[in-house]
Amino acid sequence: MNRKSESKKQSPLVWHLATTCSAVFLGFVLTVRMCSGRLAGGESSWALGLAELSSVGIALACLLLSLLYWLASRRNRRRELESYLLQVFLEHIPDNVFFKDRRSRFVRVSHSMAQRFNMPCPAAMVGKTDFDFFSDEHADQAFADEQRILSTGEALTGIEEKETWPDGREAWVLTTKVPLRDRGGRMIGTMGIARDITDRKQAEVRICHMALHDELTGLPNRALLHDRLVQAIALATRNCKRVGLLMLDLDHFKSINDSLGHYVGDAVLQEVARRLTASLRESDTVARIGGDEFVIAIPLAGSSEEIQQAAERVQLTLNRPFRIEGHEVHIGVSIGICEYPADGEQPDILLQNADSAMYQAKNAGRGACLAFSAEMTEATRRRQKMLHDLRHALARGEFSLNYQPLVCTTTGVITGVEALLRWHHPELGSIPPSQFIPQLEELGLMADVGRWVLNTACSQNAEWQRQGIPPVRMAVNLSAQQFSRGDLVGIVESILQETGLDAKWLDLELTESLTMDESEVTIAAMRNLKSLGVSLSLDDFGTGWSSLSYLRRFQFDRIKIDRSFMRDLASQPAAETVVRSIINLGHNLGLTCIAEGVETRQQLDYLQKQMCPEIQGYLCSPAVPADRCAEILRTRSFPLPAPHHHHNDEAEDAMRGVPLAPMTT
Ligand SMILES: [Mg+2]
Repeated sequence: MNRKSESKKQSPLVWHLATTCSAVFLGFVLTVRMCSGRLAGGESSWALGLAELSSVGIALACLLLSLLYWLASRRNRRRELESYLLQVFLEHIPDNVFFKDRRSRFVRVSHSMAQRFNMPCPAAMVGKTDFDFFSDEHADQAFADEQRILSTGEALTGIEEKETWPDGREAWVLTTKVPLRDRGGRMIGTMGIARDITDRKQAEVRICHMALHDELTGLPNRALLHDRLVQAIALATRNCKRVGLLMLDLDHFKSINDSLGHYVGDAVLQEVARRLTASLRESDTVARIGGDEFVIAIPLAGSSEEIQQAAERVQLTLNRPFRIEGHEVHIGVSIGICEYPADGEQPDILLQNADSAMYQAKNAGRGACLAFSAEMTEATRRRQKMLHDLRHALARGEFSLNYQPLVCTTTGVITGVEALLRWHHPELGSIPPSQFIPQLEELGLMADVGRWVLNTACSQNAEWQRQGIPPVRMAVNLSAQQFSRGDLVGIVESILQETGLDAKWLDLELTESLTMDESEVTIAAMRNLKSLGVSLSLDDFGTGWSSLSYLRRFQFDRIKIDRSFMRDLASQPAAETVVRSIINLGHNLGLTCIAEGVETRQQLDYLQKQMCPEIQGYLCSPAVPADRCAEILRTRSFPLPAPHHHHNDEAEDAMRGVPLAPMTT
């Protein structure tokens, strides 16, 4: 093909040379003929010379003319080709190519550009400017750029421009603009090429959004929160203001997830995000930094009261019930508050301190809202150390059991004891169960510790019986993990065998959240436990979602009324109603009710009036070590006042909160 095209290219030259040669040859033949005629006629030789000279002259002139002609046609063809290439380029290039004059008017554009600008053809754009197509702001910017190119002669390469169209549509282009010069080197305008990169830009924005936001709620994540805090701190410093930080942790969220499923849990989180955003100012940042942990940053807060008020608004909005998928869900929130600069000057420190405050708020009872104080740092350090050491506590023998008596409300006779786990840390001292038991669950250690508790409690009870102490029921708390991991029924059976304790002296306490799981495995496990001869109690009743069907289905023997109702008994009429209903429910279903957390004579009076059969609490005795409990058990009973006894108010007040004999230390 190359050879073919080359031969085609050379053919005009060959043709010219051939023409020239023919002319020379023709001239030469004519000359020879003429000369031979003349010679024969006896003409002089100068005529011959002249004829020869003229034929050579004609030949040279022909040669020159044909060369000039060939050169001119070659140049024309090159120009035609160049023009053709430019035209094809402008017709087919998908990018926007443009030439503009010194006043930024289009001189020539590519077809794709005309199409993009909704013009019928490229020629229709000639004479128009960016102002005819874009918003003034964008056109101004483009015009300024082009004027700069014209004044400096320097190109602008690879700039990312955001185009705003009159209909509000936005697009991104990657543009290169260079000066346009004439043959003499004078600048006569600009030319450029722009590629639409809107898709890429949108993808970048999406990726950037994903990197900085929580996928489920669309709220800023920890990374973006950190940035916003840095900005807020800088702004507050300049304006001598504060930055408020609220650390939120939803109460009972885990139970919602466990009982109603993750779908409902996720919907709750989304609704929480929506409510939080709606309840705050636009300048505030709401971020989600963990499962059910939210952080609110309040920049430019004027006072601590303002931050406190924001926290109260948040509590109000989250205390309203959530209606999701036909469920009415109640959640509360515990809030830790701290502020810049009083409680820290760095985002990390502020977050850490807000977390400490939140943790303390949770400890103070759910639904609390606590401001950070310096002592909390120590509490956080303790907590971290505690978590670290908890893994080894069982192996190091740091756990022990205390026992709290359960007492009959009519006779005062001790009917049973509940084994309660205690942890004595060698450095930190006694750690409250509320602080380490949830952590044991979280670390997955509850199955092992639970087995140890069961074994220790059963052998202690058997030991008391061997010592001749009147036999009592031993109540042991079971955790959900003990149900889900390992063979609980087999474990209970072997422990009873090993310790020689009769099954009727063992009572297993289950919490409501555990029984919410109505799986066949749980139901079968509970049936098998019952068949061993042990009794079952439903612990902390009234705090969860138990219904009558659960009570029947799981064949409980007892219900323990949650201590929170006792606390509210004096102050909240609703608590009284709940307690009365639970006791009636127990009577109707043939279940024994046990009131937990009974601390005052008044509470006991009320429970006796309602015929609640058993109580447990400080009024009788706190949980005590085994040897002390043995002494109490030997006395068999506590002296309780007779039911329906009317007290003198003053005497009653004086006795309120005073534990009954036998006194415990
Ligand atoms: Mg219990």
